[in-house]
Amino acid sequence: MTSKEKTHEVKRISIKLEDWQNLGKKLYGDDIENWKFKCPACGRIASGKEFKEAGATPDDMYQCCISRFKNDSDCKWCAWGLFDICKIRVIAPNVDHEVPVFEFADAKEEDYENDR
Ligand SMILES: [Zn+2]
Repeated sequence: MTSKEKTHEVKRISIKLEDWQNLGKKLYGDDIENWKFKCPACGRIASGKEFKEAGATPDDMYQCCISRFKNDSDCKWCAWGLFDICKIRVIAPNVDHEVPVFEFADAKEEDYENDR
C-alpha cells in the first residue's frame, strides 16, 4: 500500500533538552566524541570524534551532515536549512522554539518517548 504513504509527512517527537542529553549518555556515555548521529537526508552516520577531526564544532554533529565538512559527498544537509525533515525536536530552556536535531544513530522512536 505504498501509494497511500505520505512521504513528506514527518512524525515529530519533542523531547526536553535534559532528557535528550540523558538518552545520549545512556546510548554512548558521557564523552560526546562517542555520540553518533544520523543524517536524515542521506542516512550517513558520524561520531563526534569524526566531526572534531573534520574541523566542526560539537554543535554541528547533531545539526549538519558530516559530508559538509569532509566534502566527500553531495549531501550538505543541515537541520536549520530551508527544509526541515528532522523527526526529533529538542525543547531547550533558553530557546523560544523547538530545535530540530538529527536522530541518534542507535536510538529507536520508543527511546525518545520512554525517556520522559
Ligand atoms: Zn547527509
